[in-house]
This record gives sequence, structure tokens and C-alpha cells, in this order.
Amino acid sequence: MSLRFFNTYSRAPEEFRPIAADGRTVKMYTCGPTVYSYAHIGNFRAYLFEDLLQRHLELRGFKVQRVMNITDVDDKTIRGCQEAGVPLAQFTEPFTEAFFDDLAALRIKRADNYPRATEEQHVAAMIAMIGTLIERGLAYQAEDKSVYFRIKNFAEYGRLAHFNLDELQSTGRVKNDEYEKESVGDFALWKAWDEADGPVRWDSPWGSGRPGWHIECSAMATQLLGEQLDIHCGGVDNIFPHHEAEIAQTEGVTGKQFVRYWMHCAHLQVDAQKMSKSLGNFYTLRDVLAKGYTGREVRYALMRVHYRAPLNFTWEGMDEARQALGRIDEWVARLRAKAAEENVERRTSNAEGRTEAFEEALDDDLNISAALGFLFETIRQTNRALDGGTLDAAAARGWLEWWNRIDTVLALTGEDTSVPANITALGEARAQARLAKEWRKSDELRDELAALGWEIRDTKDGQKITKRGGA
Ligand code: AMP
Ligand code: ZN
Repeated sequence: MSLRFFNTYSRAPEEFRPIAADGRTVKMYTCGPTVYSYAHIGNFRAYLFEDLLQRHLELRGFKVQRVMNITDVDDKTIRGCQEAGVPLAQFTEPFTEAFFDDLAALRIKRADNYPRATEEQHVAAMIAMIGTLIERGLAYQAEDKSVYFRIKNFAEYGRLAHFNLDELQSTGRVKNDEYEKESVGDFALWKAWDEADGPVRWDSPWGSGRPGWHIECSAMATQLLGEQLDIHCGGVDNIFPHHEAEIAQTEGVTGKQFVRYWMHCAHLQVDAQKMSKSLGNFYTLRDVLAKGYTGREVRYALMRVHYRAPLNFTWEGMDEARQALGRIDEWVARLRAKAAEENVERRTSNAEGRTEAFEEALDDDLNISAALGFLFETIRQTNRALDGGTLDAAAARGWLEWWNRIDTVLALTGEDTSVPANITALGEARAQARLAKEWRKSDELRDELAALGWEIRDTKDGQKITKRGGA
């Protein structure tokens, strides 16, 4: 079966074929975080969907070149650095580092490149693109000195979001808060400097100012991946205006189709509402780890539902993820024990059939629920065979090979060894209490750790903190 993805352009599943002549190289761009605070787990649902996509493409033999931008200048980062009274870069750096830590905790593969919007070469590319758009009549400088994209001159505008210009104006989808624009839908390519921006400014042919968010992605994507991409991803909230604007800007400059497949994931929700900073209904990864869950458990919980279906975040869901991983771990441990029993090279397993079923489910627009369904059905069957003594060492080895292969996509093997910061802090407080012979306090801290799901043991090498029920 061929690989098929749902394309937001056509609103239909389409067979996937990369543009590259080698038929293997896949150019993929994924919109990254705005680093004015910690990303929330809704954002990580999007990044995990993209990780699953990259890993499955690689399992199928494609060579993925992926770029994810870091938006380190916009209204929120500027406001944040001013409130903190520090330069912009100093304000955004810790959040950028925290983002990379979170990616690692969630076992998300690193992109080839994480360009920052403020890097000189990228700002130069943004300015060059804006210049070309003005030359072509696709952009203009307004009285407020900002430069806007003239959407009425770009016939394709609205194609991705599936609405036409009249609709855009009449439904009030776009707030008309920039009065100098020719049309309500026109969006800023270059924002003229004003006092609120403080020292954050770059020179341009249109006066000093800063780039708009949309042009950042167009410039960084084309600079690092070229004029045409295979796949561009994000959450559904990115479709309009962000991705619509990226198409208009990039195609306005290159005259070529910018992206072949647009893929968007549905939102992570809380009580049927989008998890978002503005609604205040969000958890950062740190919040969830502080409750005693691991990055691996969050990964599973956010990944197990098809990316185009909304997923409701609940703590019960987190516990289910923990149980599911417990079953996988136990199964892998049983297979390993069996595989070690005798040295037989004969293969009696039917692992190959299973391999196909799992991978074909993912070929079908990343149908992870079906793929996991096969996995758990396999676990049931092989456990039964192990109980009945009908699964020999060679078969166990076959199943382990299969597991190792599919785990290059799932990335779920093995316990998390990382201990969250708040747990380490409680452990240190307990060590201090013991040194001071405050036994009661030490016991209370042990109970507090236990309530969070962590066990503390005193060994000759000092105290050891482990996940309860873990290794
Ligand atoms: P932002 O920092 O808001 O630009 O978001 C970064 C990425 O996370 C984008 O791809 C968004 O579409 C995505 N995103 C934001 N909120 C959610 C959510 N609740 N569920 C899934 N993806 C989200
Ligand atoms: Zn973007």
C-alpha cells in the first residue's frame, strides 16, 4: 500500500510522493514556538504529531530534512523583555533552552535546523522578499510606515483556508485594527518601529522596524530548504492567517508552488476548549512532570489519538498512558527473558504479518490508533502463547526485532531515567533533614515523594530516587 496523507489544500487524502528526483529526500518545515514563556502541552501535541510523521517517513526509507523556526521577536517577546527589563535575546534565551529540554524529555527528534527569526541573515532575507513583493505590486507601504501585503492582487489567497476574499471581509474574521491598510485582510510584512518597541529595531528601505510573523517563516523556510517544500505542518489554528500568508508571500516572490502537502493537527483540548495561553487552561510539560509523570508517559498520552481528531487532556488519560506503557514494558521484558533461554536460530513467529499491519496503518494518514490496536492485540496473543509455553526463544527474538523496528517510530522503549526537578529538590531536602537528624521531617518528605509516585531508598552510596513500580 502506498503512503497517503490528508492534504489541507484539497481536504482529501493524497498519495505522498516527494518532489526530489531521487524520490527519497523529503523537505519538511514545521512552525516552531514563540519563546516568550514555556510551551504548553497543546503545542507539544503538534510537535509530537510532526515527530511521528518524520519517524514514519524515515521508517519507510525517506530521508527527511526538517527545519523548525524559533520565533524570538514579536509583540509578546518584546513586551516580555520590557517587563523583565532585559535585552530581547536575554529574555528569549532561557525559554528557547527550556524548549529544547522539553523536546528531549518527549523524545522528539531534533530538526536539522532551528533558525531564529532575529538572525541577521534571516532578517536580510525577509527584507529582500518584502522588496520583491513591493516591486510586483503585491505589497505597499502605508501611511503608518508599515508595509502590508495586498491580498487582492494575489488571486490564490484563501485557497488553503477554503474561503474567498468577500467572505473574509464580511465574516469579520480579521480585526480591522490597522486603519491605514487598503483592505482589512492585508497583513503586515514589516512593522514600523514605535516607542513601545524600545531598542528592538532593524533598518530597512522603509525605515526602521521589525518583520511580521508570517514573513519570518517564508524567509527561513526558503533560505534553508529552497523554494519548494514537500510538507509544511502546524496546528489547525495556523491555517489562517499564518499559512495562508506564507503561501501568498512565498509564491508572490518565487512564482512556484511553495508547499505540496499541508498537514495540520487538531487541538489538544481541555473541557472541549482549545488548550491555550489566552484561555489560561493550559499545562506546561513541567507542570505535568511535577505531578510525577514522565516525558515518555506524556509522549504516549499525546500521541495515541489520530492527529486530526481532537484530544481531550485529562489526568485519567495520563494514568491510562502509564498503564499502557506498563503493559508494553512487561511484554518486552518477558520476550527478552524468553529470547535469552536457548540459542535457536529457527524463526517460528508470524512477526512479519504484524509488521505489515502496523506500518500500513501508519501509511494511511498516520492512523496511530489502528497501529496501536495491532500492537496491543499482538501483546495479548504473544502473552497467551508465552503463558501456554507455545512461543519459543526464536519466536521471542523475532517479536523483539519487530518491536525494535516499530519503536523507531514510537520511541517508547525503556524507563525514563530522568528525575523531575521538583522531585530532586524534595530528595535533597530529605537528605538535609537526615543529616540534621530531623527524622520526622525526613519521613514526611518520604511520604510526600511517595504521594507523587516516587520511592526513595537509602543505599550505601546515598539515597536513590526511583519511580514507583519502575526499575
Ligand atoms: P504558537 O506558539 O501559538 O505559534 O503554537 C506553536 C504550535 O502549536 C503551532 O503549530 C500551533 O498550531 C500549535 N498549537 C497551539 N495550541 C495547540 C493546541 N491546543 N493543540 C495542538 N496544537 C496547538
Ligand atoms: Zn510559521
